[in-house]
Amino acid sequence: MGVRKISSRRAGNLDSLNHIVVSITESSKGFKTVNEVKTLNSYKRSKESLDAIYYGLKFAESVEYSLDQDHDQPEIFYLLLTALDSLDQPGIPAKIIELWFLLGLSDALGFKIDLKNCAGCGLVFIPPYDKLSYSYESGGILCGSCSGYSLKMRAETFELLRSLRNNSLESITSQNYSDNAVNEVSAILNTHARNMFISRNVGEKTGMLIGNI
Ligand SMILES: [Zn+2]
Repeated sequence: MGVRKISSRRAGNLDSLNHIVVSITESSKGFKTVNEVKTLNSYKRSKESLDAIYYGLKFAESVEYSLDQDHDQPEIFYLLLTALDSLDQPGIPAKIIELWFLLGLSDALGFKIDLKNCAGCGLVFIPPYDKLSYSYESGGILCGSCSGYSLKMRAETFELLRSLRNNSLESITSQNYSDNAVNEVSAILNTHARNMFISRNVGEKTGMLIGNI
């Protein structure tokens, strides 16, 4: 029993993508010391899948880009926790979890995409959702009459976006959206998140999975 043994046990707890409870003390000079670490979930199942590890690290990196240091945002913490818990369970495709997470993160950070009204003219969207597009400039959805530098989307893509905001992950998975719709939503939400990180002035960080910002 010695310091070395205790610290090596801590090192295991502090592995990437672990959900932990940690006790930290700060000295009068501002140095912080980790005293106690308890692992609540190490996501063992996810760590056996390269796909799940990729998405888990991407979620963690997105949160790092989203929060100011020492400024807690419980909503974002629980969003990340739900995403990691879902990755660790069978049944829900990782890609769907990613889309649900990115939309939730945008909403929590005040970059909510309006899915009810056109970002150009205010028109209320009603089915069939023809000729809608995602506007790069406003970060919102445009109707067919409003033009701009935008990413076209099919009606099913818009329905998937709405479902991601309004439904649980389990019920979205059961609705069987096409790969085309999933890919279009992925392009929209990854673009939206990237613009959000840029506008939050995260500086010169180089994300391993998000890319240079
Ligand atoms: Zn419009």
